[in-house]
Amino acid sequence: MADTPTIFDRILDGEIPCLKVYEDDHVLAFLDIGPLSNGHTLVIPKQRKAMLHELSDEQAAALGRVLPRLCRAVMKATGAPAYNVLQNNGASAHQAVSHVHFHIIPKPSADDGTGTGLEMHWSPGSLKGDAGALLAQAIAAAI
Ligand code: 5GP
Repeated sequence: MADTPTIFDRILDGEIPCLKVYEDDHVLAFLDIGPLSNGHTLVIPKQRKAMLHELSDEQAAALGRVLPRLCRAVMKATGAPAYNVLQNNGASAHQAVSHVHFHIIPKPSADDGTGTGLEMHWSPGSLKGDAGALLAQAIAAAI
């Protein structure tokens, strides 16, 4: 558990209200207070870890089990035909709340005035053969 409780710890403890959409023994989901689009939902593990790689396999599995179901529900309720699932780790990667969370961000087909969803700047490089093979080996060896 982190030293200072995050805002999501306080939501889990019931100190701060949230608009809950789902809860089980390991997972809580609720609407984001600053939505990028209608239906922007946050999905958090009850285990208090800042970053994804710190989660136990059990908590990770619990999140993975329910995420597609929550995505289906968000799409059904909002009518959005597309969505992004975003998961930030670390302040430099735009993580503001140091408790693992997945964003489900609907991408509306047209601007309905409730937000246009996630806007991305994506500037790909190019994977180099030899260096790429070494990198793949290094990552595989670290698992
Ligand atoms: P991050 O940048 O850490 O990936 O995203 C944190 C998200 O938490 C933001 O989208 C922000 O709007 C949301 N958030 C921050 N504080 C609260 C809160 O008190 N309640 C709810 N429902 N969402 C919050």
